[in-house]
Amino acid sequence: MTRTAFITGSTSGIGLAVACRLAANGWAIGLHGLATPAQRDEALGMVRQAGAADAAFFDGDLRDPAAVQGLAEAVQRWRPVDVLVNNAGMQHTASVAAMPAELWQAILAVNLSAAFLLMQALLPGMAGRGWGRVVNIASVHGLVASVNKAPYVASKFGLVGLTKVAALEYAQSGVTVNAICPGWVETALIEPQIQARAAAFGGDRDAGLKALVLDKQPSGRMSQPSDIGEAVAMLCGDWAHNLTGVALPIDGGWSAQ
Ligand code: NAD
Repeated sequence: MTRTAFITGSTSGIGLAVACRLAANGWAIGLHGLATPAQRDEALGMVRQAGAADAAFFDGDLRDPAAVQGLAEAVQRWRPVDVLVNNAGMQHTASVAAMPAELWQAILAVNLSAAFLLMQALLPGMAGRGWGRVVNIASVHGLVASVNKAPYVASKFGLVGLTKVAALEYAQSGVTVNAICPGWVETALIEPQIQARAAAFGGDRDAGLKALVLDKQPSGRMSQPSDIGEAVAMLCGDWAHNLTGVALPIDGGWSAQ
């Protein structure tokens, strides 16, 4: 069956990998992100190449609630959405004392409030059609804290809580709502943290990356974006109708400690 999936923040990193994996199911793929025309066209080409039955791009700055509403309306004018992946996210590292208040607001808006508004807009349609999947890309930081990430950790704990509430509310509707909680995944989002650690090794990126991972992630390996794509595809399976309200760590044992 051709399903329609809409993935926020899907012109790079985890979101693009999720989009390509769901495209390989032969589904219609709605892309979104803060992207240049060239990045947008490249992502559209990649999902078409991966097998998408249809592909479209939507823009909208998720810091702005009105833009999120407009985005939800535009996507639904395109196609009824069966699968929503709330993936877009922002990070900024600073202590509580030094965190700029406007970054607190922006990170909460993108990582948490936009997910809420999109779920509010799209869940009723999924329930009305009797099948749906929401996958929220949270983080291991939705389960445990680290220093210097107050808004990020607060937003991701909030996203896990939101996931569980919606899972309960839609438990009998044919719609499941789950969160994935990755540890380190090698994307642009964490490049500043890799480079900061590399500086201590004379700029050796590989050494910095290894030290960063081993601080927290017992496996010593980063995940790749495609690993998260596989997990989303699993949660979208028909067999997973009773897999709901879960916050699934993919963290090399980080949260097991
Ligand atoms: P990324 O920077 O490659 O992707 C982030 C995406 O979010 C981009 O497409 C960007 O356009 C979009 N985005 C950011 N701000 C936006 C805004 N204001 N409006 C609209 N779109 C916006 O990073 P990624 O690592 O692929 O991150 C994807 C998700 O995975 C995020 O929610 C992140 O918190 C989560 N995550 C990442 C890691 C990791 O180690 N990389 C670990 C755990 C969770």
